[in-house]
Amino acid sequence: MTSNACFVTQVATEEILLRVTNVCGECYDDIAEGDIIHYDMQTYRYLCQSCQEKLCEQMNDECEIVGEEEGGLFC
Ligand SMILES: [Zn+2]
Repeated sequence: MTSNACFVTQVATEEILLRVTNVCGECYDDIAEGDIIHYDMQTYRYLCQSCQEKLCEQMNDECEIVGEEEGGLFC
């Protein structure tokens, strides 16, 4: 699973990079124009492909993080 209803998948545009962010909100990796990025509607940040996939694996159907990191992301 590479996308679900919890994320808005888009291609990084110059406008996003200039006006919003040019790094992943999770791992702070650089985002380049043309990269596939995912807007996390739960935490209002852009994630790179690998971080989105990791979060997807931890999410339940309600976009809640389940598992060991209980509460950590939603404090
Ligand atoms: Zn990342």
